[in-house]
Amino acid sequence: MSSTTETVVIGAGAAGLMAGIWAARAGQKVVVLESTAQAGKKILISGGGRCNLLPSVADISDFYSGSSDNAIKRLFRTWPLEQVQMFFEYEVDVPLQLEGETGKLFPQAQKSIVVRDALQNELLNLGGEIRFNHKVTDVKKVGGDFVLACGDNVISAKKLIMATGGKSVPNTGSDGFGYEIARRLGHSNLPNYPALVPLATNESLLTDLRGISLRVEWRAEKNGKTLELGNNDLLFTHHGFSGPAILDASHWIVRDKADLIINFTQVSSEEWRQRFIDEPAKTAHAVLSDIVPARLAKALLEKANVKHDDRVGNLPAEKRKAFIDVICNYKLAISGNRGLAVAEVTGGGIPLDEVNLSTLESKKTSGLYLCGEILDVIGRIGGYNFYWAFVSARLAGESTK
Ligand SMILES: Cc1cc2nc3c(=O)[nH]c(=O)nc-3n(C[C@H](O)[C@H](O)[C@H](O)COP(=O)(O)OP(=O)(O)OC[C@H]3O[C@@H](n4cnc5c(N)ncnc54)[C@H](O)[C@@H]3O)c2cc1C
Repeated sequence: MSSTTETVVIGAGAAGLMAGIWAARAGQKVVVLESTAQAGKKILISGGGRCNLLPSVADISDFYSGSSDNAIKRLFRTWPLEQVQMFFEYEVDVPLQLEGETGKLFPQAQKSIVVRDALQNELLNLGGEIRFNHKVTDVKKVGGDFVLACGDNVISAKKLIMATGGKSVPNTGSDGFGYEIARRLGHSNLPNYPALVPLATNESLLTDLRGISLRVEWRAEKNGKTLELGNNDLLFTHHGFSGPAILDASHWIVRDKADLIINFTQVSSEEWRQRFIDEPAKTAHAVLSDIVPARLAKALLEKANVKHDDRVGNLPAEKRKAFIDVICNYKLAISGNRGLAVAEVTGGGIPLDEVNLSTLESKKTSGLYLCGEILDVIGRIGGYNFYWAFVSARLAGESTK
């Protein structure tokens, strides 16, 4: 190897390993610099240690970015989901298993480590090198080359791929310093915020419900406009709320200060109105307790100021409306979020209009490529964030040739 490496990748996470593989497959001599002592720490903790590697279906509405839908579509077209699945199954020997209920794909081994090891081994087999405990603290472009400061080492590269991730769960190595390096190379950074994050409440009625999990319909709403609708599980926690419904909705709440409205019953207001007419002798408790856990039913009745044994047919119109509103249109009292320390991904980041969408090469510094969470794209719960990391990394890696 010459003293100037052809392609250096900063970060050995999901995106960095994949970018390294495709740069090596494109014929580049690749060195990956990783600040921690091992690769893919986030892969290891993902999906509760099982790694929800990919979704089984994907659509543009599964991703959020400040950039246009067309930009996102164009990028995902470069590596369709079925081909990414085939890459794992047939090229790096990670058989996948579909979790029917959720549509998520996991490695058949149900262990994250097989994914991390498969990517790492593929990179090493292609002649790539990973240098651990190598935190890049500065990058300059000198002449045509990148000069990277890395502790006492100085490393030069012809091409540079930044795959430094975001700022969430910083003890995995993604401490946000990559944004600073990118800034020094001419990039901006859309404000970062915790996304896919549990939310907090100070409404004691709800914190008393910790441990309850149920499927709900939710909508994020701002100024009367629905921003997104969903139907998945909500978990009451010690601090407030979590579970896929909350994580998926959270970026609207954190970034856009939207309201989060819950239908705990999955039965529409109209249907409830009809049920009250059809079965007037039923008690308020009886109508709810078939549908939601008893502790939640009790809390909802308390909130609606309806007595346990009130017969729904006898409720005055105003009270009936209030009752239906509480069970179908409950505005969760959100007091905050659990922050970047626990958020699964970081929103914001480098805008896509600062990269060439055909190559992911920077428009600010030639020879620099960006991929993964550092860019302004996030996906919903379900394997969509790894899918983004892999698609963007392959394109960046292959484009170094
Ligand atoms: C608890 C948890 C569970 C998750 N589960 C899932 C899941 O099941 N499915 C899913 O799709 N997504 C999941 N995610 C999200 C997913 O992990 C990320 O979207 C993905 O890891 C982003 O990949 P990346 O390579 O861009 O960044 P990262 O994985 O964050 O990798 C960045 C790498 O760069 C290194 N680095 C950073 N700065 C420097 C520097 N200056 N010098 C050298 N190295 C540096 C870091 O140490 C790190 O290794 C989860 C996230 C968390 C936190």
